[in-house]
Amino acid sequence: MNTFDINLALLQKYDRPGPRYTSYPTAPQFTEAFGPADLRQEIVASNNNGKLTDLSLYFHIPFCDTLCYFCGCHMIITHNRNRIDEYVEYLRREIALVSRMQKTGRRVAQVHWGGGTPTYLSPEQIARLTDAIHQHFELATDAEVSVEIDPRGLTREHLAALRQGGFNRASLGVQDFEPAVQQAVNRIQSYEETRWTMDTLRELGFNSINLDLIYGLPFQTEDSFDRTLDLIVGMNPDRLAVFNYAHVPWMKKHQQVIKPETLPKPEEKLRILKRTIEKLAEAGYVYIGMDHFAKPDDELAAAQKAKTLYRNFQGYSTHAGCDLYAFGISGISQLQNVYAQNLKDIPPYYQRLNNRQLPTSRGYKLTSDDHLRRHVIMRLMCDMMLDKREVEKNFAIVFDDYFAGALAKLEEFRDDDLLALDADTIQITPFGRLFIRNIAMAFDAYLDKIPSIRNLYSRTV
Ligand code: SF4
Repeated sequence: MNTFDINLALLQKYDRPGPRYTSYPTAPQFTEAFGPADLRQEIVASNNNGKLTDLSLYFHIPFCDTLCYFCGCHMIITHNRNRIDEYVEYLRREIALVSRMQKTGRRVAQVHWGGGTPTYLSPEQIARLTDAIHQHFELATDAEVSVEIDPRGLTREHLAALRQGGFNRASLGVQDFEPAVQQAVNRIQSYEETRWTMDTLRELGFNSINLDLIYGLPFQTEDSFDRTLDLIVGMNPDRLAVFNYAHVPWMKKHQQVIKPETLPKPEEKLRILKRTIEKLAEAGYVYIGMDHFAKPDDELAAAQKAKTLYRNFQGYSTHAGCDLYAFGISGISQLQNVYAQNLKDIPPYYQRLNNRQLPTSRGYKLTSDDHLRRHVIMRLMCDMMLDKREVEKNFAIVFDDYFAGALAKLEEFRDDDLLALDADTIQITPFGRLFIRNIAMAFDAYLDKIPSIRNLYSRTV
């Protein structure tokens, strides 16, 4: 268990916009000069690099029934089932196209459906999509197959179709159980339907269940969020993600509906965070880092201990070293040397697939400096420490010379007891885990060149 005193003054001091480092470089560096031919070239290279790297597949299902005012996802509100049918059909085309480019024998170690609301698909649409995945890809027997679930409007048939399609993990959106908060964000979801979903998932054999919460929503207080936490802890999830609400109405226009005066004040928000961390520690959860908590015997906590944890566009992952392919609008693929993002709008995405072309809209090819910095940022964010000698060995550099500028920036964090610096390592303190994004930013070569990071990134704490 991680326990530590929480210093509100330091939380305030370091609360600023910054990347979440699900990639490095981050998305603002992606360029439209990178297109389908570049991705295709990288796929060919990845097929021929000596050993067959496992695959991780991400599917973006953008549709939702109603709009949650806090939403920061790439989603589409619709009640038109034909529209969803058509999208599933195009996903099947994309699956066929991408799978044909893969060398036979590449195993799929991980599948994830995100959104939007994947469970807004009907049970029949779920079956059609899972059939296509199994038809075109070979899933490992121990593959981690996970789905984001919205308990609202869900039936047993939805969950049975997912289980039938091979899903064994689930992540449930909850956010907050307080009626006033739910009303203010237009997401009415009862404790009973959430509990029913948890119980049914367990009964059907799903073996890891994550719950998502958000702090910083309208009308939340330390006490009100505490009541939600009591209910959540009582449901005994294997993992928890407690996200900081990013109020960015200049980027997400629908957030303008949320009146700023209803949002908790920064001090209240930090008290909510403090209480959350303390309460989850008392309940036996390990604080993994950033927004994530897990039971000590959960794979996420075990992978962190074994230093095999990894970050990709879905956040923390136990599957390091896979090539990640994203299907559907806006999805971002990550191969060894490139990032490639799909078109964000449906008509051009369909158009490309009609022409049997990859729907890539932009991307990035990593330089050798990017590879090095990505490794450093990844290890810091996953292991909460960095072995400088290991980096020197793998990248043929003298760490203290190469990163003299970054090390100078870390001195302030050391003085605030957020990390310890010695000749061989950088060690993040338990309290320092809360500031891991800020610490990682010291190694980012691009941040200083971005004119207005406020407009691009959420706040770090
Ligand atoms: S269900 Fe999820 S993706 Fe859809 S609007 Fe609500 S928060 Fe956004």
